[in-house]
Amino acid sequence: MSTETHGHGHGDGHRHEHPSQPDLEDQPVGYYQVMTEALGEVLIDKGVITADELRQQVEWQDSRAPVFGAKLIARAWVDPDFKERLLEDVNGAAAELDIDAGDIPIRAVENTGQVHNVIVCTLCSCYPRSLIGLPPDWYKSRAYRSRTVREPRAVLAEFGTEIGDDMEVRVHDSTADLRYLVMPMRPAGSEDMGEDELADLVGRDSMIGVALARSPGE
Ligand code: FE
Repeated sequence: MSTETHGHGHGDGHRHEHPSQPDLEDQPVGYYQVMTEALGEVLIDKGVITADELRQQVEWQDSRAPVFGAKLIARAWVDPDFKERLLEDVNGAAAELDIDAGDIPIRAVENTGQVHNVIVCTLCSCYPRSLIGLPPDWYKSRAYRSRTVREPRAVLAEFGTEIGDDMEVRVHDSTADLRYLVMPMRPAGSEDMGEDELADLVGRDSMIGVALARSPGE
């Protein structure tokens, strides 16, 4: 990357220096980028989908965020019947809360005092995007994809999550046909909290399993 700097005015007379940002078109084009564009063009040319439908799908993907998954977890914490339905069928339980979990089945895996779950896609980047948004870059890294399977406790420790030796760590390998969502344990001290407050304790990383739910006041 170029380290050349330049300045711009921000209207208020303030100027600052920062590295120049290369235009997207100046970046090398990868194999999958070519394939994606070619496939999109063919599908549109053949009338299978319209350009607007493709755009809408991309817009929908970009609109997804961890707040959707957090709502499901918080409801499960306060409503045992809902929790049972969530463990049975995430997509169906999400629909009860008017949350669109998409067409690909998602399975919830519950953390307990004995078992800690963590998700990975060893092949690529399969992830419950409909409920927690696009995956972070590290989720797609070769190191996370390979090491989480080989040495999950060491990887978790690097995220600051120490799992006791008396606990079992279960690693779930996501696929294109089945994705996982970790249901973190409800933290101590949250007994009097309402559903909305509880949802604030459920961060993205706790639903991947590399972290625990936040403690109240944390
Ligand atoms: Fe994948």
